[in-house]
Amino acid sequence: MKTYDLIVLGGGSGGLAAAQRAKEYGARTVVFEQGALGGTCVNVGCVPKKVMWNAAQIAHAVEDAAHYGFHVTAQTHDWLALKRGRDAYVNRLSEMYQSNLENKYIDLVRSPARFHSKNEIFDAQGNTYRGAHIVIATGGYPRIPDIPGASYGITSDGFFDLEELPPRVAIVGSGYIAMELAGVFKALGSEVSLFMRFDRMLRSFDEMISERVMADMQEQGIKLVTEATPGAVEAGNGLILSTRDGRHFKGFQCVLWAIGRAPNTGNLGLDSTEIELDDRGYVLVDKYQNTSADGVYAIGDVTGVAALTPVAIAAGRRLVDRVFGGQADRHLSYENIASVIFSHPPVGTVGLSEKKAREYYKNSLVRAYKSEFVPMYHALTIDKPLNAMKLVTVGEEERVVGCHVVGAGADEMIQGFAVAISMGARKCDFDDTVAVHPTGSEELVLMR
Ligand code: FAD
Ligand code: NDP
Repeated sequence: MKTYDLIVLGGGSGGLAAAQRAKEYGARTVVFEQGALGGTCVNVGCVPKKVMWNAAQIAHAVEDAAHYGFHVTAQTHDWLALKRGRDAYVNRLSEMYQSNLENKYIDLVRSPARFHSKNEIFDAQGNTYRGAHIVIATGGYPRIPDIPGASYGITSDGFFDLEELPPRVAIVGSGYIAMELAGVFKALGSEVSLFMRFDRMLRSFDEMISERVMADMQEQGIKLVTEATPGAVEAGNGLILSTRDGRHFKGFQCVLWAIGRAPNTGNLGLDSTEIELDDRGYVLVDKYQNTSADGVYAIGDVTGVAALTPVAIAAGRRLVDRVFGGQADRHLSYENIASVIFSHPPVGTVGLSEKKAREYYKNSLVRAYKSEFVPMYHALTIDKPLNAMKLVTVGEEERVVGCHVVGAGADEMIQGFAVAISMGARKCDFDDTVAVHPTGSEELVLMR
């Protein structure tokens, strides 16, 4: 039996970050990975998605170029060439992760891991590994609905396998992935229909975001089908998606499920431990990432909180600082975590929506500042998508508790504002900051 100070289950964003930080503290560390190193983000998430978003941005820029005096048109787009370039980049990254582990003398077991007891892990061959500490960082997988014909559809994983652009696509869902992939398909030439269960998308975000993104999508020609819960998929002349209320939508080459993700906990042999899961199968943890079993922790998507790469990384590093670095109270605060939806244009958001602020604080203490404007880039173009911005403040001192931006540059803008908000910035601090002109972001320090 091999013994380690730390066993990490899952070589994705969180697991690799935890393992590498532990090694810096001198801990003998092993990582178990059953698939490609780098996990979801590198292989079927953020990284290949951002490549596709970049391609879509270029398609939009080519459309706009004529208005800036360029005689160019995008006659054709070679999807397969883009896929090959993207796959090669992803493979390079995955190989880089492997050499990083080798260079740092972190052991790698390329096998699914299963608990034998709370401090012992089996690999697929039945070898046993004992760890003083064990981190569960096994992430999740895309859900598909439990309806007839669901297997005709693909998920975001399958999106990255597509070798050609499907001419007609149905996307089901109304969160991050549905928005992002709808924008990519549309910009690269597909006809896109987006099916959502309610009357609006991105329901957990500030209303300004969902309203603006819906308007942008409609302006781009994405068909929005509201109040549409999927009921069945059939193969006919193309795929037919039927909704529960009896509507039928025909002729799709691709139906893509983007209805959320589920945790990878089913294959971990958790019955042999006292590790508790919630009713959706996520590992229950306290604010220090402790599970209900002593010496076993969980980080990242498998905990079901803020499923974002930097969150998994930060939780993993802080956990290891605490366990091996002697920093007894080190833990991740899940407040004010900024995120970006890579739609077209993108969304940047940090802190509370106006609605949540009004629920959380006394309504009369909450104030919202809003602005909508055509960004200067679009002064010359025919399409004039609006930028929309909102600051949510609380109390007499008007502490900023939410900042929401839809529009070009929002993706790069929000990080800096997240720092200010984490530091407790007030509206008057924004007002006292001299604007950078001419930019979209200056509007955030000019709101009245
Ligand atoms: P993962 O990265 O999923 O890693 C878990 C690893 O554990 C996997 O490699 C898996 O193979 C392995 N594993 C599972 N079970 C076992 C087992 N029993 N034994 C051994 N290994 C096992 N986040 C952002 O911040 N920005 C983005 O732009 C963004 N875009 C995304 C786009 C898409 C399409 C998707 C699906 C996700 C995106 N995310 C994004 C979310 C991000 O990818 C995840 O939050 C992040 O990867 C979570 O890291 P993790 O370490 O918790 O899990
Ligand atoms: P999300 O949770 O973002 O959105 C899924 C949405 O689909 C739900 O909010 C729900 O919206 C709808 N839905 C749920 N069940 C059904 C159903 N049975 N039929 C139809 N619609 C349904 O999940 P995603 O899959 O988009 O992404 C997973 C996670 O990955 C995200 O939450 C995010 O944390 C991360 N991610 C981050 C990205 C980024 O940072 N840019 C990009 C991509 C993913 P409603 O209740 O309104 O119907």
